[in-house]
Amino acid sequence: MEMTEKEEVVSKNFIEQIIEKDLQEGTYDTVCTRFPPEPNGYLHIGHAKSILLNYGLAQEYHGEFHMRFDDTNPTKEKTEFVDSIKEDIQWLGADWKDHLYFASDYFQQMYEGAIKLIKKGKAYVCDLTPDQIREYRGTLTEPGKNSPYRDRSVEENLALFEEMKNGVYADGEKVLRAKIDMASPNINMRDPIIYRVAHVSHHNTGDQWCIYPMYDYAHPVEDAIEGITHSICTLEFEDHRPLYDWVVRELEFEKPPKQIEFAKLYLTNVVTGKRYIKKLVEENIVDGWDDPRLVSLAALRRRGFTPESIQKFVSLCGVSKADNSVDYAMLEYCIREDLKQKAPRFMAVTDPLKLVIDNYPEDSIEYLDAPNNMENEALGSRKLPFGRELYIEREDFMEEPPKKYFRLFPGNEVRLMNAYFVKCVSFEKDENGNVTVVHCTYDPETKAGSGFTGRKVKGTIHWVCAKTAIEAEVRLYDNIIDEEKGVYNEDGTMNINENSLEVRKAFLEPAFSAAKPGDKYQFVREGFFCVDTRDTTQDRLVLNRIVSLKSSFKLPK
Ligand code: ATP
Ligand code: MG
Repeated sequence: MEMTEKEEVVSKNFIEQIIEKDLQEGTYDTVCTRFPPEPNGYLHIGHAKSILLNYGLAQEYHGEFHMRFDDTNPTKEKTEFVDSIKEDIQWLGADWKDHLYFASDYFQQMYEGAIKLIKKGKAYVCDLTPDQIREYRGTLTEPGKNSPYRDRSVEENLALFEEMKNGVYADGEKVLRAKIDMASPNINMRDPIIYRVAHVSHHNTGDQWCIYPMYDYAHPVEDAIEGITHSICTLEFEDHRPLYDWVVRELEFEKPPKQIEFAKLYLTNVVTGKRYIKKLVEENIVDGWDDPRLVSLAALRRRGFTPESIQKFVSLCGVSKADNSVDYAMLEYCIREDLKQKAPRFMAVTDPLKLVIDNYPEDSIEYLDAPNNMENEALGSRKLPFGRELYIEREDFMEEPPKKYFRLFPGNEVRLMNAYFVKCVSFEKDENGNVTVVHCTYDPETKAGSGFTGRKVKGTIHWVCAKTAIEAEVRLYDNIIDEEKGVYNEDGTMNINENSLEVRKAFLEPAFSAAKPGDKYQFVREGFFCVDTRDTTQDRLVLNRIVSLKSSFKLPK
């Protein structure tokens, strides 16, 4: 995959500037980046930014891109997530080639690193309870206090750490801490815990270990082992950078990696946090991790977003150090742009109303020519059946039209797209006053493509021939969040929109008979739709609306 948008970006972002300086000054000879997800959930649109940023930089500087599972915390990790993450990254187009790694493969080296720190007098085993550790740590305004175990001898520390490893201690009974500075203004530097006891099986190493390294110790070691040059992470790790640097320095890695922070991607009024997406899934508010109302990559894919649309979106977002929130409409803009020429434009009626052409022969069907995409001739054309009975959208007829309504109403003439002019002569209603059938007459002279110039009509509507129509279920989505109230409440609950899913029975023209799961179409005048990959079967066609056609979104300058 080439990042085609790159050419449009003239100035280099701040990370590119750092990298170029490092290459110029010889700090590094090559560029090596990584994407290090924790396999404790599905990836979402925010991760896409990190993936494409890291992959894009590796491409740009002809370096390497590593895919690494940061699986050092055995309690929350699952192989289900490992598989989904790989699938999502491949789908996005980021190719890690043969650089697939697991942090848990480095447990032995991390353990040896800990021994090295102990031998250098830079780490000690501490017996304080978790509560005591917290108490001794101090606050933002007060320095911490040294642990009474801080001055244990190297020999004693080595022996105790060995016992920790051998399962002599219960969870939480002892920890290994870095010996840095309890008075540091940066709390992360106040003798942080680097190893803890946890008698839990690990998805990769099983019961081999009962001590596990903490993230702040493990991460720099992972990066250094792999020869990562620029370890790109999000802003919340800025205060951890001194510890990152301490670890790689004390372990004496040559050409240690450099941590660079950038701002996370947030979408306004959209649930992006992995933790919250998980909550929606676990509380059955949505139907799984790939529910099309979510912004996990699996959900976006199922909804019908393409990798290209996400690449474009991420590139439009840019890279910065300031937290910002992007409008979901920008993502919608990107998928419309991507599909407008790629997707065939067929007719479908999602809220059907019967239309009868009284002067059209009863059992006759004729086939009209229709282009598959007016903006892209390469998609060819098709034969479109037309007959006496059609379906039109309910909103394309009004008994008593307001001003400027140019569609069907008694006495008015409109164009049926790719077919004829029809004029409304009457309509029928049921006992509740709902219109059930609209009657029209057609004018054979006005056939599309015949060059008819006799008169003009203001409205053009789409339609589907009833006799040959294919029935389908269409799902229209709205934000899962009630936007008026915002996403989160103070107690961590979310404001759920109860009407985020609308299911309709639709009629489609026969060209849809070739539709396969994952195929994308434009329903003319309606929006872009994708054939659902989970619920579509031999006898049931289900389409998800990706996005409607209408938008007020303007590309930011
Ligand atoms: P979340 O914040 O959604 O819980 P996470 O940070 O816990 O996600 P990880 O698996 O640790 O998820 O993330 C892997 C990588 O993706 C990290 O480098 C992280 O900084 C990056 N990342 C996570 N969320 C975003 C985001 N919203 N925007 C950009 N990068 C992100
Ligand atoms: Mg995380």
